[in-house]
Amino acid sequence: MRPAKPFDAGLMWFRRDLRADDNAALYHALKRCRRVWCVFVFDTAILQPLLQRGLQADRRVEFIHESLIDLDEQLRALGRSNGVDGVGLFVRHGAAVTEIPRLAKQLGVQAVFANHDDEPYARTRDAQVLGALAHAGAVLHTFKDHVIFERHEVLTATRRPFTVFTPYKNAWLKALTDFHLQAYPVERYADALAPCPPDAAPGVPPLETLGFARTNLRELKIRTGSRGARALWEDFLTRIEHYHQTRDYPAVKGPSYLSVHLRFGTLSIRTVAAAAVALHRQGIAGATAWLNELIWRDFYHQILANFPHVGEGKAFRPEYDAIRWERGKHADALLAAWREGRTGYPLVDAAMRQLNHTGYMHNRLRMVVASFLTKDLGLDWRWGEQYFADHLIDFDLAANNGGWQWAASSGCDAQPYFRIFNPISQSEKFDPQGKFIRRYLPELARLPTAALHAPWLAPPAELQAAGVVLGRDYPQPIVDHAQARARTLQRYSVVARQRVTAG
Ligand code: FAD
Repeated sequence: MRPAKPFDAGLMWFRRDLRADDNAALYHALKRCRRVWCVFVFDTAILQPLLQRGLQADRRVEFIHESLIDLDEQLRALGRSNGVDGVGLFVRHGAAVTEIPRLAKQLGVQAVFANHDDEPYARTRDAQVLGALAHAGAVLHTFKDHVIFERHEVLTATRRPFTVFTPYKNAWLKALTDFHLQAYPVERYADALAPCPPDAAPGVPPLETLGFARTNLRELKIRTGSRGARALWEDFLTRIEHYHQTRDYPAVKGPSYLSVHLRFGTLSIRTVAAAAVALHRQGIAGATAWLNELIWRDFYHQILANFPHVGEGKAFRPEYDAIRWERGKHADALLAAWREGRTGYPLVDAAMRQLNHTGYMHNRLRMVVASFLTKDLGLDWRWGEQYFADHLIDFDLAANNGGWQWAASSGCDAQPYFRIFNPISQSEKFDPQGKFIRRYLPELARLPTAALHAPWLAPPAELQAAGVVLGRDYPQPIVDHAQARARTLQRYSVVARQRVTAG
């Protein structure tokens, strides 16, 4: 006989965990409650600012929307296979801080279950929901689900959060046991899924009713939901052994392209980490390199959780906030050229056009364009961070902020400020045949490969033969890299002065 359950009725609140399998909060809800309903809230506190900034066509909103349709089907199927008909996902559109307590009251639940979200807004929201529920005599239970290790789980010998990656990684690997990789067997208690009351229609409303428009998500064949995630994951498993050799070349299908699925939880981190760990233990170098990236993901999550100032526009290292970035009309023009892929540096421009057209950018290119913005254009990393936040389909505050502060050298384990990527040599090294550049810059497609990385250095006859007039078909470079490098070293010298003063 199963032990009696502590709660009669519970509500599972999905957020960045849009799947019905191996889901910590869902598992605990089903295990502890006799009846469980499920909800997702399109939170106006998040969506309204997007609409106000004119981002009606947002791939993330469409990705979530499609993934919810998939999640609704999964929940219905899970209910049916456990003899419960009429299960479905409630989808609400409003402020989560009011919608969740309201629905909890309507359904008469004693407990709401959700998975941790350590972004500053989410923490405030959850504290408010917890307070409102407590007022009504209900509780909010939250669980780790999004990462393998969170918050204070992996600490230094002196019980402090790690701020350097390699010792963190070593401690992470040491702390890891099979327990951390185990899936939550949601199906074991799925008979607790409750049919929706007839007056509270479940199901996903049309995207347009949220005020958002369709994007090119379908045209790009971006796979959504758990089903899409599974297909991508299976494909990546056939390539993972080569990951360490292919991951840096944007023209090659090297990485997993799973970031959006890990972001929205349409794929469980435990599923992928367990497989990566098993292959790593077999000595597969590609799996070791990929596991390393998953550990970077945990690393940045614990940085955001333990040093929340990084998510509030501040440098991890305060002395970097003394840097004076370019401002004014000229800076605005440089930013516009960067955003639109008109800098005159082909790899940078191709990368930005990839972002604008698809919502994805290859990791190598994220590093190149971030370095270019901060160290070639002298622009504030927060401007780039914001642009990525608005356009990346996989935007994740912890990873994005970590990546930007790494590139700007203001981060916890960042590259030193005097290490400045050369956009031409990066191009020659990582897109040696110019395939990626040609894909996104068709106007340069006919240039010989040697001329593609820095067209302004090409002999006029080559440009003419390729039908390229610089300044007409493609821009002249907006900065000279060598001069920009010198200016950057000067700009960053304030950091060293701050350190001396502080010392
Ligand atoms: P793979 O190479 O297959 O990596 C597997 C997974 O590991 C990724 O899906 C991701 O979840 C994680 N991962 C990989 N690299 C990193 C990293 N450096 N930091 C943290 N996690 C990592 N990643 C995001 O998920 N969201 C972001 O908003 C984001 N912004 C970035 C901004 C900058 C400036 C930089 C330099 C990096 C950023 N990254 C971000 C990290 C990385 O570029 C992407 O995770 C990766 O390109 C996604 O592609 P993939 O899934 O094919 O990666």
